[in-house]
Amino acid sequence: MPVGFVQIPVGIAGPLLLDGREYSVPMATTEGCLVASTNRGCKAILMSGGATSVLLRDGMTRAPVVRFESAKRAAELKFFLENPVNYDTLAVIFNRSSRFARLQQIKCAIAGKNLYLRFSCSTGDAMGMNMVSKGVQNVLDFLTEDFPDMDVIGISGNYCSDKKPAAVNWIEGRGKSVVCEAVIKEDVVKKVLKTDVASLVELNTLKNLTGSALAGALGGFNAHAANIVSAIFIATGQDPAQNVESSHCITMMEAVNDGKDLHVSVTMPSIEVGTVGGGTQLASQSACLNLLGVKGANKESPGRNARLLAAIVAGSVLAGELSLMSAISAGQLVKSHMKYNRSSKDVSNACC
Ligand code: ADP
Repeated sequence: MPVGFVQIPVGIAGPLLLDGREYSVPMATTEGCLVASTNRGCKAILMSGGATSVLLRDGMTRAPVVRFESAKRAAELKFFLENPVNYDTLAVIFNRSSRFARLQQIKCAIAGKNLYLRFSCSTGDAMGMNMVSKGVQNVLDFLTEDFPDMDVIGISGNYCSDKKPAAVNWIEGRGKSVVCEAVIKEDVVKKVLKTDVASLVELNTLKNLTGSALAGALGGFNAHAANIVSAIFIATGQDPAQNVESSHCITMMEAVNDGKDLHVSVTMPSIEVGTVGGGTQLASQSACLNLLGVKGANKESPGRNARLLAAIVAGSVLAGELSLMSAISAGQLVKSHMKYNRSSKDVSNACC
């Protein structure tokens, strides 16, 4: 029963100079500081020659749980799936689900009589949950011929793992795995970020690495990746609940060039984004994707738009990390929040 829309202010951060191209990054958020802060990070990156990204992996996952009468039978299916000859047959069955779905791997985990099959596949420009689920269903139907005693308990057995913090995504990746880096020049750190390289490196070690280790973090070795990921997800019609694993990020900082400049990187193993399907088709979200030049299906190379969107998310997180870490290192965090978040200006009509 749709009744309307909830409005969220949208701001633009940028230009983000990433892999030689400039992007204006749309962010939907009610946090006044966030766009301004990300914008400052973008400026530092731009003035230092830009950021570079590499896509390490691209595969959406779904893991059904199936049960047998014995652990021995569950193990037999595991070995069957791990046999390359059987895998090739199953890939043909799986890929019938869509012209864009291409099976990459089936990773098995056993708990007694229960087997969890983590299917991973490329999904073109779609985030891919529907696509991978259809492929999995095809394979399960096919397997019942050779394994009639297999009881399919659920198409999702949480070993996928969707919208829950889970080490499997942090270690194996889910969606797009991206690493993004930049070298920020010494004078830019001073003039734009109002801090110095040594303080940033020390803060990163003690906060993002040591502090997060003490807290028992799972993928949370960063300052605020989730802030940027959520804002871009909402603006571009992604599933905001997937912010859970899409925000997994380890931020690294190191002094380079004789200790003068700052090497900063973000490694994000599970960015789940698409440029077709779901909320991407809505008018405002579509306009935001268009602004980035990644709207819809990429005709020449299916998947290129979604992969570029993932790189932009990582580049924006890099900018956000730089700016917030600098604010904390310079002791400016509370002051800037008071200035931007306590604004009495009415922005309720500013996003029509
Ligand atoms: P999801 O799997 O992310 O939930 P949907 O099933 O809602 O996505 O949308 C994907 C649909 O878009 C599929 O029907 C697919 O055939 C179609 N499609 C068209 N072009 C592309 C493309 N370049 N990449 C992926 N899917 C595409």
